[in-house]
Amino acid sequence: MTMVRNTRQRQAVVQALRETHTHPDAAWIHAQVRAELPNISLGTVYRTLDALARDGLVMTIERAGQATRYDYKHVGHGHHHVVCRGCGAIYDIAAEDVEVPALGLPAGFQVQDVRLEYHGVCQSCAQQSEKRG
Ligand SMILES: [Zn+2]
Ligand SMILES: [Zn+2]
Repeated sequence: MTMVRNTRQRQAVVQALRETHTHPDAAWIHAQVRAELPNISLGTVYRTLDALARDGLVMTIERAGQATRYDYKHVGHGHHHVVCRGCGAIYDIAAEDVEVPALGLPAGFQVQDVRLEYHGVCQSCAQQSEKRG
C-alpha cells in the first residue's frame, strides 16, 4: 500500500495551528485551511491532525463530551496544559516549569513524550459556582 502524504494539506494545517494560541478544534482549523485549500474536507483535516499527532508535531487535548482541541508542539519549547472543566478554557504552562517524576516506568522504557494536564475549575468558574450556591 502506498503511503499518501499530502504535504500541502499538512503544511496548511500546521500553519493554521502555529498562528494561533487558542487551542482550536478541528472545525476551526478546517475553516482556516479552506482559505488556502478550498476543497479540503473536514475528514481530511481530522486525518491530517491524527497523522501530525502521531508524528509528535501536534498535541491533542481531549475533554469528555467535547471536541478534541489541538495545539502545535513547538520543538524544544514543550508545554503542558491546564484545562477548566467549567468554561473549557485551556492555559499553557512551560514544560521547564514542571518537574515530571518518572515513577513506576517499566524497566528499560524510553520516554519520548510526557503529557501533563491539570483538569479543574478556573477562578471565575469557581466564583460563579459559589454565587449559585
Ligand atoms: Zn473556567
Ligand atoms: Zn498549548
